[in-house]
Amino acid sequence: MNKTPVTATSRTRQTPGLFFLLSAAITGYVFYRYSEGWLRSLLLSLSRSIWARRMVTGFGPAWRVASRFIAGESVEEAIAVARQLNAKGLKVALDYLGESVTQAEEANAARDQILLLLDRIHESGVDAYVSVKLSQLGVKIAENLALENLRALLTRARSYGLRVRIDMEESALVDTTFDIYRRLRHGEGFDNVGVVIQAYLYRSEEDVRWLIEEGAWVRLVKGAYKEPPTVAYARKADTDAAFIRLAEQLLSEQARSRGVHLAVATHDDAMIRAVQRYAETHHIPQDAYEFQLLYGIRRERQEQLASQGYCVRIYVPYGTAWYPYFMRRLAERPANLWFFVTNFFRA
Ligand SMILES: Cc1cc2nc3c(=O)[nH]c(=O)nc-3n(C[C@H](O)[C@H](O)[C@H](O)COP(=O)(O)OP(=O)(O)OC[C@H]3O[C@@H](n4cnc5c(N)ncnc54)[C@H](O)[C@@H]3O)c2cc1C
Repeated sequence: MNKTPVTATSRTRQTPGLFFLLSAAITGYVFYRYSEGWLRSLLLSLSRSIWARRMVTGFGPAWRVASRFIAGESVEEAIAVARQLNAKGLKVALDYLGESVTQAEEANAARDQILLLLDRIHESGVDAYVSVKLSQLGVKIAENLALENLRALLTRARSYGLRVRIDMEESALVDTTFDIYRRLRHGEGFDNVGVVIQAYLYRSEEDVRWLIEEGAWVRLVKGAYKEPPTVAYARKADTDAAFIRLAEQLLSEQARSRGVHLAVATHDDAMIRAVQRYAETHHIPQDAYEFQLLYGIRRERQEQLASQGYCVRIYVPYGTAWYPYFMRRLAERPANLWFFVTNFFRA
């Protein structure tokens, strides 16, 4: 990632593209009032675009906005942020940014960086586990490559008593992700691996059934990718209803007695309150589940939940490959997009 200001020459070269991106963003913001889904789709498409990535990451002020959501570039910066959050009573999930690698060398380099991260978590004593993406570990190159890389991470993590959660990516990867998860968890006995369920996918109702059966370690999210209506709910209201339904199933007496531990990952107060109400009504202790929020989003709410005695974990990404993560955060919140656009003008 280039954090240094671009030179006059490089900026001139980028100008037509920057104006295009800017116009797209402003037009998107105006259209947002009429069609929220349209803007979200545009930003999610840009998150996969190579030219948009080059343009945004090559433009210094973009980092100023992105750094609100990202702990820094190095493992030491990430550990420092974890320590600060721990001091406020917040637990942490650290994520070395990167996804959709196309070369085995990149996948292996990511694995090595995450091994280093595990070492640093252990040495520093911060209260943190690690989140990984299989596409970062090479699953789009070969399933076995990701399996071997994840096995190496789980082995190192287990030696330190740490856990590794597999983030869930686009729907095309869900079957493979669960396949690799099952092979490592059941085939090889790694009990320190967890997965993620996306409420917007129709299939999640079915997946939650077998995850409950096996007493899994599950994070529930709404889902952050651009998915067609053939596989995912298009309306926010439907996703929200599914989120609450799945949270209640994963918190049920049956699920807890089988060993399920649920992480409710959302910034949405309606979801948080629904889970709190369900837990209170069913006398579920606060330490039987946890809330998770992203670094830099709703900081006051994070601390408030912790001060009310809830277990709260903050997902902290770091590293140089921040572009797709950043674009997904913009897609979720138009106010962030506006902040981004005004920074382009100020630059
Ligand atoms: C810890 C964590 C891990 C995640 N892991 C994954 C994963 O593995 N795979 C995946 O697909 N997705 C993941 N996500 C992203 C998730 O799928 C959603 O895209 C993201 O959380 C946005 O949905 P939401 O539930 O926060 O609420 P939204 O539906 O986006 O927002 C609902 C309401 O929440 C409030 N809100 C939301 N954002 C803000 C904000 N920035 N400031 C103030 N209020 C806000 C507002 O009131 C808003 O109206 C993860 C999210 C978290 C928190």
